[in-house]
Amino acid sequence: MRAAVVEQYKKPLVVENVPDPVDDAGGVIVDVKACGVCRSDWHGWRGEWPGFTGGDLPHTFGHEFVGVVSDAGKSVTQFKPGDRVIIPFTLGCGHCWFCRTGHSNVCPDITMPGFTYDGGFAEYVHVPNADSNVVPLPDAVSFQEAAGMGCRFMTAYHGVVEVGKVHPGDWLVVYGAGGVGLSATQIASGAGANVIAVDIADDKLDLARKVGAVETINSSTTEPIEAVRDITGGGADMSVDALGIPTTLRNAVGSLRRRGTHVQIGMTPEGEGGEVALTINDLITNEIDYRGSFGMPTVEFRYLLDQVSTGKLHPGDLVTRAIGLSDVNEALDNMTTYKTVGTSVVTDFTH
Ligand SMILES: [Zn+2]
Ligand SMILES: [Zn+2]
Repeated sequence: MRAAVVEQYKKPLVVENVPDPVDDAGGVIVDVKACGVCRSDWHGWRGEWPGFTGGDLPHTFGHEFVGVVSDAGKSVTQFKPGDRVIIPFTLGCGHCWFCRTGHSNVCPDITMPGFTYDGGFAEYVHVPNADSNVVPLPDAVSFQEAAGMGCRFMTAYHGVVEVGKVHPGDWLVVYGAGGVGLSATQIASGAGANVIAVDIADDKLDLARKVGAVETINSSTTEPIEAVRDITGGGADMSVDALGIPTTLRNAVGSLRRRGTHVQIGMTPEGEGGEVALTINDLITNEIDYRGSFGMPTVEFRYLLDQVSTGKLHPGDLVTRAIGLSDVNEALDNMTTYKTVGTSVVTDFTH
């Protein structure tokens, strides 16, 4: 099969023929029809997350894929060849306490296609424990739109709706108007929140307005915490840091009113080693509720997909380009310079 392979970190991916993945009894092989390109791929491509990838090269990234089942293992009961499917980027073991209670996204034995093994910048991908991990994709949702849900839309949905418990009328500030931030903006706005989007790029803020932000702040020219306090009359009810750099994380927490809720979705980059300093006494005395949010458990997909099928949510609005495998290089390069607007989705797996 064709795949876009990382042979050296930070060097262009090589589009080449590689062996097809092999199925097992509980798994399926997915014939990939579309795969989103994500900042997480960029982190991995730069070699920043050896804990996820095992540090072994060559490696095929791509964790935002959808397609059609081409082979189902002999113990798979819920899926058969020809089924349209979407794959969560976090796959659970299917039998631990967390998986059984609906929290497959925090399974201790998690696997992640495109990270812990070869993923969707390729024609075919193996998905283990299919009955508990694979999600049927409604006919009303196109492959390209579904890939646009990627990790960003599902991650934002889980973060805003399930982890953050957004309420209608909440002031919600979203730091970072990339894929996750724009998704969070659309989802929170759809849920009735007043969303303020913060970024350093006006074109991204324009897109944030198009998907529902009622206010935008360009933080390269305006001090965002004060601006949020002015707009909201004292601070946001909820903040989302969709980026994960120290500045956005601290500004997001600092933008909250007392008793506000912060949802951290963006992972910190290489230089921070996963650590960002916060003034803990402020969290205590202001009773700030700080929550981490990771991916989305399989069982929650139903709610998200039903809202997409009925036209209430539009993840396809965030897809700005359909590309071929070799174009992933340009998409990654644009992330290095923070030039990407919206999401690129691979739909051509021939070159
Ligand atoms: Zn599990
Ligand atoms: Zn992703």
